Amino acid sequence: MTAKIIDGKAIAERLRAQIAAEVQQRVDAGLPRPGLATVLVGDNPASQIYVRMKHKACEQVGIQSFSRTLPADASQADVEAVVDELNADPRVHGILVQLPLPPGLDEERVLGRIRLEKDVDGFHPLNIGRLAQKGREPLFVPCTPAGIMVLLEEAGVNLEGARAVVLGRSNIVGMPVALLLLRRNATVTVCHSRTRDLPAVTREADVLIAAVGRAEMVRGDWVKPGAVVIDVGVNRVEDPTAKKGYRLVGDVAFDEVKEVAAAITPVPGGVGPMTIAMLLKNTLRAAKLAD
Ligand code: NDP
Repeated sequence: MTAKIIDGKAIAERLRAQIAAEVQQRVDAGLPRPGLATVLVGDNPASQIYVRMKHKACEQVGIQSFSRTLPADASQADVEAVVDELNADPRVHGILVQLPLPPGLDEERVLGRIRLEKDVDGFHPLNIGRLAQKGREPLFVPCTPAGIMVLLEEAGVNLEGARAVVLGRSNIVGMPVALLLLRRNATVTVCHSRTRDLPAVTREADVLIAAVGRAEMVRGDWVKPGAVVIDVGVNRVEDPTAKKGYRLVGDVAFDEVKEVAAAITPVPGGVGPMTIAMLLKNTLRAAKLAD
């Protein structure tokens, strides 16, 4: 059996086209253009790349973007002052604080400072708390987990009563995606670095989400035949034949697992493009909430 490839790039492109059309309709109707502000503290090169990508994606769909950059030695008060200023700016509908913040800054306090209605990354403690509680609705759901749920939906996966296994328990991916799967009535197991006999646990999964950051850790014999596998990992591995000297691989040994699974996301071109598409979607939603 060769798995169906879940084409995140194509799904994200379709979503972006829909968002662009909706933004244009708003502007034509005289409503404010949605605006996203990014806050970047320090000079982490990966964070700089992510922020640039987000601005470019905004531009492509007609969302206005605002950029605030602070030095690595910015104080807690400096960062919070920027968040306060953006909270008060009516042109800014969504605020994204690029993580991780440099050591010494209190991430939770910074994220908690963002106005709930502008929390397009969904990391405000109240939004995460609501996600974890039955009968409560977060205003925004974190972008990568939200994108994973869209991919599962597009692949036609029935989550009701399904066994889902999430590898990884980070605040950004593993834990919120586990909560989302639970809300959809999957039976969820969350694994981490202390889980015993990982392959035995993953082999139980109808739906397997890998978000560990370990190149090609999930092998073919870790996967139940017919499972749906979502690979969140983005890992660099050396490759002298590649122009940059490296290539990107996921947490899943794609060539092996595609022979066992019913459906699988590739890396790149799976979850990655969905993350930014969901950020744009959340920003549009924030603009609508402000109308
Ligand atoms: P973190 O490093 O924050 O979390 C990794 C998780 O994996 C932890 O819970 C850790 O366990 C667990 N883990 C690590 N090693 C093992 C192991 N050997 N066995 C079992 N569990 C293990 O990573 P993130 O969640 O931020 O990211 C995960 C991956 O997803 C990375 O490759 C990252 O680049 C990628 N990513 C991709 C995005 C996208 O848009 N495509 C967005 C965000 C992340 P413990 O808690 O015990 O330490």
